[in-house]
Amino acid sequence: MGSRHGFETRAIHAGQGPDAATGAVVVPIYQTSTYKQDGVGGLRGGYEYSRSANPTRTALEQCLAALEGGRHGLAFASGLAAETALIQAVCGPGDHVVIPNDAYGGTFRLFARVLERWGLNFTPVWLGDLDQVRAAIRPQTRLVWCETPTNPLLGIADIAALAGLAHEHDALLAVDNTFATPYLQQPLALGADVVVHSTTKYVGGHSDVVGGALVVSDQALAEVLTFHQNALGGVPGPFDSWLVLRGAKTLGVRMDRHCANAERIVDLLVGHPGVDLVLYPGLPDSPGYEVATKQMSGYGGMVSFTVRGGEPAALRVCERTELFTLGESLGGVESLIEHPGRMTHASAAGSPLEVSGDLVRLSVGIETVDDLVEDLRQALD
Ligand SMILES: *Cc1c(COP(=O)(O)O)cnc(C)c1O
Repeated sequence: MGSRHGFETRAIHAGQGPDAATGAVVVPIYQTSTYKQDGVGGLRGGYEYSRSANPTRTALEQCLAALEGGRHGLAFASGLAAETALIQAVCGPGDHVVIPNDAYGGTFRLFARVLERWGLNFTPVWLGDLDQVRAAIRPQTRLVWCETPTNPLLGIADIAALAGLAHEHDALLAVDNTFATPYLQQPLALGADVVVHSTTKYVGGHSDVVGGALVVSDQALAEVLTFHQNALGGVPGPFDSWLVLRGAKTLGVRMDRHCANAERIVDLLVGHPGVDLVLYPGLPDSPGYEVATKQMSGYGGMVSFTVRGGEPAALRVCERTELFTLGESLGGVESLIEHPGRMTHASAAGSPLEVSGDLVRLSVGIETVDDLVEDLRQALD
């Protein structure tokens, strides 16, 4: 399944030829931990033990690689398991990483509360300001960590510029592409070395599975990551792999609807008397608009805004919606609303990731958009 095929074709076919044994059109759930050997070391199809490799997982890994325009995909049990394997594979004690000062909370916690104890240093900076990034890079910097759009403020970082800067200093650029998805943004083509995913979100797309992935093109990097995937062991089971793969098939059509619905929600919010500031990279006066327009083919389904009347008013909006379900996570078919200050970012109080109490974050789903607009309108009244 080559890159000459379109995105939706790759989503449905890459890694997913008919099953060799039965002709099953859908990749089976190979619910097995081990494989019969034809004589000692005589592996049929290369499978030995399902931590190392499993056919359902292989199908998912090939599909994700094809979607990101990369050569090698690696699936993990969660986004954080993918991040852990990547960082352990390319960094060691005394090394240094530049991370966004509005990184995903779990990523920040991994650096601050786990990896720092193992001698890994990190500096949080605002990735939108390349001078800050340049100033933070040291001779020991192995990795520049990028998220764009960011969570929950939907800031935009320039992937191509960051890749240039990282490579000037012999560091790798990792891009967490969870919010944009490969449908809207292709970091490897922009110069990134590794793409990171929480497939829990848009790739899975149905809020029914937790998963993660890495995609790379470089062969040597793929080998060291594959070694760490197996050595650390944070792999997804066959059924979870199958669920993520099933989600990936419809990623393109879902993203089109997420983007279109988000734009209608933004239209409602902009100029609404109950709303102060709308954060969405597709707004022409938003600080990330130009870079987002250059590197993304759509602005995504995440929308954040601040509510007039501060935290009490923001909490009230979150508790008054009916279709927008109050809950954490994002990227599923159903619309979600949350209060970052009290929910996803509550533990960030006092850290660089702290957010204001008047902020509300929406993950705009793919329901009938008029219903979503009406739901939010009544919650804001
Ligand atoms: C959810 C998320 C993660 C972590 O992924 P898990 O699957 O929850 O471990 C990492 N980055 C971003 C941007 C996320 O939204």
